[in-house]
Amino acid sequence: LKDRKLIVQIIPFENRRQILVTHDATESDRIEMMRRDFIANASHELRTPLTVINGFLEIAQGQPNLDPDVRMSHLNLMIEQGKRMQNLVEDMLTLTRLESIDYPLRPEHVNIGNLLRQILQEAEALSGGRHTISLTVEGPDIQGSTDELRSAFGNLVSNAVRYTPEGGRIDIKWQDLGNGPQFSVKDSGIGIRAEHIVRLTERFYRVDKSRSRETQGTGLGLAIVKHVLLRHEAVLAIESQPEMGSTFIVKFDNSVVDNDALGLLKNH
Ligand code: ADP
Repeated sequence: LKDRKLIVQIIPFENRRQILVTHDATESDRIEMMRRDFIANASHELRTPLTVINGFLEIAQGQPNLDPDVRMSHLNLMIEQGKRMQNLVEDMLTLTRLESIDYPLRPEHVNIGNLLRQILQEAEALSGGRHTISLTVEGPDIQGSTDELRSAFGNLVSNAVRYTPEGGRIDIKWQDLGNGPQFSVKDSGIGIRAEHIVRLTERFYRVDKSRSRETQGTGLGLAIVKHVLLRHEAVLAIESQPEMGSTFIVKFDNSVVDNDALGLLKNH
């Protein structure tokens, strides 16, 4: 019964024994707390850009003869804040979908080479030539959801770019070192202190809020990565040292790839 998150209590009642079955209070309290935290964080994240946009709209309304250059810079700031809200809402929708039991994984053949070349192109656009980025594809293709893996690998690669100062290196690899295929992205960036590493995949957890926002971060990227990997039964390993850089490794164990969910479709 414990596994079903139920509590059974035997309580004396008017000389009879009554069995009281309730939900596990600690589990439901924890879920309720997480839900509240998520809403509080999301509302806070949306309020800031909304305040900026409303402020500039009021200026535009109150000062119709504003200098065109000033007006243009206000418009640019509003567009930037609008994009921030859009990214956030899109990431929230993605997370909700990934967590939904009504949305099971539909494995298909994933062409890893094509996928990683697309991700490399996006990383180069984001970097704007400020980093040296390499891609090595050696491992086999796998079964999984191309869209979800694009989102997971894309988030890890864009983080590598965003948290690596100009002149740094980023190495993206797809290899099979014997235990099954693995994706890795190694950067020479700012690194992460050990105490933060365990919390990185929590929603809205950021080591440095301002740096994350400056680079268009929503704080949900690694939470999305975690859910995609859970759905693919893959594991994430993070190796990092402050100032030295980080490596994020996603391991697809052969035994996992061959299990029921993926194996069935593989034999299709
Ligand atoms: P964000 O949108 O803030 O980047 P993520 O969920 O993708 O959100 O990442 C959570 C936090 O983990 C980031 O705010 C950053 O502090 C840290 N982080 C993620 N990737 C890296 C990296 N490659 N190097 C250093 N710090 C990183």
